Amino acid sequence: MKPQIWFLTGSQHLYGPETLQQVADQSREIQQMLAAGVSFEIIGKPVLTDSGAIRQVMIDASADKNCVGVIAWMHTFSPAKMWITGLDLLRKPLLHLHTQLNQALPWSSIDMDFMNLNQAAHGDREFGYIQTRIGVARKTIAGHASDPAVAARVEGWARAAAGVAHLQGMRLARFGDNMRNVAVTEGDKVEAELVFGVSVNTYGVNDLVEVVDAVEDKAIDALVEEYSDLFTLAPGLAKGGDRHESLRYGARIEAGLRQFLTEGDFGAFTTNFEDLGGLRQLPGLAVQRLMADGYGFGGEGDWKTSALLAAVKAMGTGTGAGTSFMEDYTYHFGPGEQKILGAHMLEVCPTIAAAKPSLEIHPLGIGGREDPVRLVFDAKAGDGVVIGIADMGDRFRLVANTIEVTAPDEPLPKLPVARAVWKPAPSLSTSAESWLTAGGPHHTVLTQAVGVEPLRDFATMLHTELLVIDEHTTTHDFADRVRWNQAYYRQFAR
Ligand code: MN
Repeated sequence: MKPQIWFLTGSQHLYGPETLQQVADQSREIQQMLAAGVSFEIIGKPVLTDSGAIRQVMIDASADKNCVGVIAWMHTFSPAKMWITGLDLLRKPLLHLHTQLNQALPWSSIDMDFMNLNQAAHGDREFGYIQTRIGVARKTIAGHASDPAVAARVEGWARAAAGVAHLQGMRLARFGDNMRNVAVTEGDKVEAELVFGVSVNTYGVNDLVEVVDAVEDKAIDALVEEYSDLFTLAPGLAKGGDRHESLRYGARIEAGLRQFLTEGDFGAFTTNFEDLGGLRQLPGLAVQRLMADGYGFGGEGDWKTSALLAAVKAMGTGTGAGTSFMEDYTYHFGPGEQKILGAHMLEVCPTIAAAKPSLEIHPLGIGGREDPVRLVFDAKAGDGVVIGIADMGDRFRLVANTIEVTAPDEPLPKLPVARAVWKPAPSLSTSAESWLTAGGPHHTVLTQAVGVEPLRDFATMLHTELLVIDEHTTTHDFADRVRWNQAYYRQFAR
């Protein structure tokens, strides 16, 4: 079932039934124009003309699990005191669409009847006032509903709302605790459940091992066959090869982990190489495969990045572009364009792969276990965003940087992990200086499926700070913004 967006049309009784019928008809036309450019199902609701109906529709939207958000449009003049108690009750993301049915003014024929019917220009101003007066978090989009740019922005907002809906009530399993002594992967799990709706809990890694060890051979056979269809197997890993048993163990981890997550209704998880219990390999391939299916993941117990990854993956569903767990690893300071090489020990999601990944086995110096199997590939070139989350003690902070993923300058034949190479906007130095000033984390979510505007919408919906580093950023202005935000969030945050 497609996620649904409810479309609310504001008016009032004063106009009489005939005009209200015209309002309803025109609202339907607007909805149809929008539907052409939006992948969500738009559900039109009866025209709203009094506070009781407004309150009821807001309660219904808040309770409906298929409704991810609400669009409001004041076709005519809808006195906004009628909206106060309804808006106060609304628990779903709100988009104020400021539009009208006619695109061009009918200059030669316009009369007062037309003026009185098509007055969103001031009807929506009345609605804007009450939203601001109440302090309702919302997105405002102005433009004609037939404009593809308007539809694209509505689509982006709806995707952000789907990300928020995905987090609401999500369960996240941590296998083991955080990597010892690491600061930025820590955080307030109670606050996270209140702000994002995610329930974060720890499970002994040997609870997972029990499930992994009990996986039946035929499940492993099926996975190994799937691997040979999807990936290029390194010599030795295929059936009959001297490392084939390691591949089978990798498949065993995948099947067991998937079963554990499915049975516990989890949407995200973390692992920690310091706490592998009876696992014989650090989960590499298994994590990559589960991320590709939409699960959130964070390495070293990083549950915040795991939850964020799950949300951004939900936002990018159906775009055909990928999203992965990522870590800034090392730099290319020249010659030529300055770039960042990102990767992780093993766990990069194959949805961002430029070509068919190769399935390989290499030693891993960390973790002290058997050689783990992993998918190796370069990330697809193109625009993207990296986004990270940090706990500042009194609130969560998101930091995002617009990037251009590029092909590596040269092949990387000796690098045994999946990786992405990118040029951060506006430059490596300004990006890195700003990111460090913000206290942004080393783990991020790299997405080629979701742009900055939906990520801003997502932050707004969650009442969470977001600092964006893009082509307009200068280090000094950015540092000022960090200072001002500090004051703003201390004063106005919940
Ligand atoms: Mn890491």
